[in-house]
Amino acid sequence: MNFRRSQNLFKSLISKAMSTKNSPKDLLAKHCSEVVSQIKSAGTYKKEREITSPQASEITLNSKKALNFCSNNYLGLSNNPTLIQTAKDTLDSHGYGMSSVRFICGTQNIHKKLEKTIANFHSMEDTILYSSCFDANAGFFEALFDSNDAIISDTLNHASVIDGIRLCKAKRFRYNHIDMSDLEEKLKQATGEGARFKVIVSDGVFSMDGDLAPLDKIVALAQKYQANIYLDESHSTGIVGKTGRGTPEHFGVEKEIDFISSTMGKALGGASGGYTTGKSEVIETLRQKSRPYLFSNSIVPAIANTSIKVFEMLNSSNDLTTQLKANVLLFRTEMEKLGFHLLGKKETAIIPIFLKDEKLATEFGNEMFDEGIYVVGFSYPVVPKGQARVRVQISASHTKDQILRAVRTFEKIGRKKNIIK
Ligand SMILES: *Cc1c(COP(=O)(O)O)cnc(C)c1O
Repeated sequence: MNFRRSQNLFKSLISKAMSTKNSPKDLLAKHCSEVVSQIKSAGTYKKEREITSPQASEITLNSKKALNFCSNNYLGLSNNPTLIQTAKDTLDSHGYGMSSVRFICGTQNIHKKLEKTIANFHSMEDTILYSSCFDANAGFFEALFDSNDAIISDTLNHASVIDGIRLCKAKRFRYNHIDMSDLEEKLKQATGEGARFKVIVSDGVFSMDGDLAPLDKIVALAQKYQANIYLDESHSTGIVGKTGRGTPEHFGVEKEIDFISSTMGKALGGASGGYTTGKSEVIETLRQKSRPYLFSNSIVPAIANTSIKVFEMLNSSNDLTTQLKANVLLFRTEMEKLGFHLLGKKETAIIPIFLKDEKLATEFGNEMFDEGIYVVGFSYPVVPKGQARVRVQISASHTKDQILRAVRTFEKIGRKKNIIK
């Protein structure tokens, strides 16, 4: 075939592929539209509601107002005037972006100061910042452990913890959710297989059930079987414990927890960013080897400096954490009086209202929203089949009146749907 002929053949093949809608791009798009229809017919399609106001306990969605009971804005700091001012000032003093990873030219004085501040808050030696807690979890295990080691993880741990463990070559053991005899069984197995390091990994507070890892018992097992403990405190920092230092504070085992990861994207202002804190040699190793740290941009200066302010606020007063606990207690008490079946523990700000039925949970959430109370129904596959629920998240910034309005709306829809009498 001469050059001209082969060129023409090539052109005609291309145009044919384009005209019959069989190009790789079109085939992939067709495949995706089938995937999406399957998700829709399974009833698990996730719609996004557009908020036109700042995040707060009362928000505007286009023109509709609603009380927000489904954000992670546990301390009401997302729209706090002091924090907004600090962020504005930092834009002037330290600029907008870093345009670099940390080890090249992405470290400012405020990044180092925040790391020290976080380490002090958790009584740890050093801290490493990440763009998110997802990255903190994704970057921990692979950097430190290999096939000589064993990771023993709660089945209900967060997706990012699960993914982080998957990225690493260590032997993996999963124990049934907060089941301590199963954890002990898995620790025995890991010991029997001669693991060099054993690491027990758990969320401090579990986001779908609103329950806590039983740290007193986990610590005892870790000591018996010589294991490290890695705790993801994303739903606990600023929330659990008298001073908001999290699940270890609640159980009085702060010294016994080896590593804590957490997020700045929830109670701590809700912007973004995550961290891992623990022994300095380990944090130093992570700075050298942790891939999301090495190969992803440094956190925004305004967030770094404003986060220092958040920790200073928590260090100087327990008022927000105390208010949050009072709000949780008010909501739980009123809902229990009405006869709702609540899951979870009063120490967390997550209150799942158990409804069992998938369709009921979705409808319940939608009808609450129509009445101006923004809560979301969760069903399979986010929670196990037949365990659907509406999840409420309480904030320190909810007023008593707002909480009682939510309770009255739950009462109205609950009666209508014959869930309560
Ligand atoms: C939200 C959450 C994360 C992710 O935090 P980001 O900073 O938003 O990436 C990780 N772990 C747990 C347990 C969480 O709840």
